[in-house]
Amino acid sequence: MKVYISADIEGVAGVVSPAQGQAGHPEYEKARILMTEEVNAAVEGLIGAGAKEVVVNDSHGPMTNLLADRLHPAADLILGKPKPMNMACGLDEGFDLFFMVGHHSMAGQGGVLAHTTNGFAFRQVRVNGIPCGEPMIYGLYAGELGVPVGLLSGDDKMREENAAIFPQAEFVTLKRSYGQRAARQVSVACARDLLREGAARALARAGQMKPVRWNGPFVAEFAMNSAALADQMAVLPPAHRVDATSVAFDCTSMAEVIGWMTGLSAMSFALR
Ligand SMILES: [Zn+2]
Repeated sequence: MKVYISADIEGVAGVVSPAQGQAGHPEYEKARILMTEEVNAAVEGLIGAGAKEVVVNDSHGPMTNLLADRLHPAADLILGKPKPMNMACGLDEGFDLFFMVGHHSMAGQGGVLAHTTNGFAFRQVRVNGIPCGEPMIYGLYAGELGVPVGLLSGDDKMREENAAIFPQAEFVTLKRSYGQRAARQVSVACARDLLREGAARALARAGQMKPVRWNGPFVAEFAMNSAALADQMAVLPPAHRVDATSVAFDCTSMAEVIGWMTGLSAMSFALR
């Protein structure tokens, strides 16, 4: 069995504030250890249950958060950016399961550190009119490749948003959100136990899990946080201007949705 782990930081137990996800902040140095150890717990669970190959993709911010010298020795690590398919870089048809560890709820819907890819840029991302967070977008991309979503970990809002779309996945709920920057959470030790056990359970059920995919074509609509941001994105020839603050792109696949989302996110830095 071959398993892919996309690792984010906002859904990690012990993380509730933006500073904890920002390189250069003293709190960040502690949070990245928590992130690395949650990933390690998932890897341990997988290896203990018989997985032969685990690839971990650092999927937060600069994508150089995970501590290479602390990561479980059985896992390969993808670090850095830009990279194709961003939070699912290197995922292919050969994987048996797609895990999302430390993930979070979508922009504008509440939940701890909720955002979609880039909190400065996007107010909401919709695919065919349906608001989507990162787990939905990347999980459906995995589905396009024939890979089922095996496990998602994060807060209760992330679970609420994604439980119906990925009904067979193991959800590991580590935090109960009291807002954008507050949560009740299980202990760090308990979080790791839950991840270890959840990963092993997911692997044991891998044979029964089905990939979830939507059939295109898709309209990917990006509601930006300002008209200036929408002006910036509308310079791209394929962009449709929906209204003062929104642009849309016609896509044939979730891979294309991810391509536009990643590109627009990068372009937004021109207006920071
Ligand atoms: Zn993140």
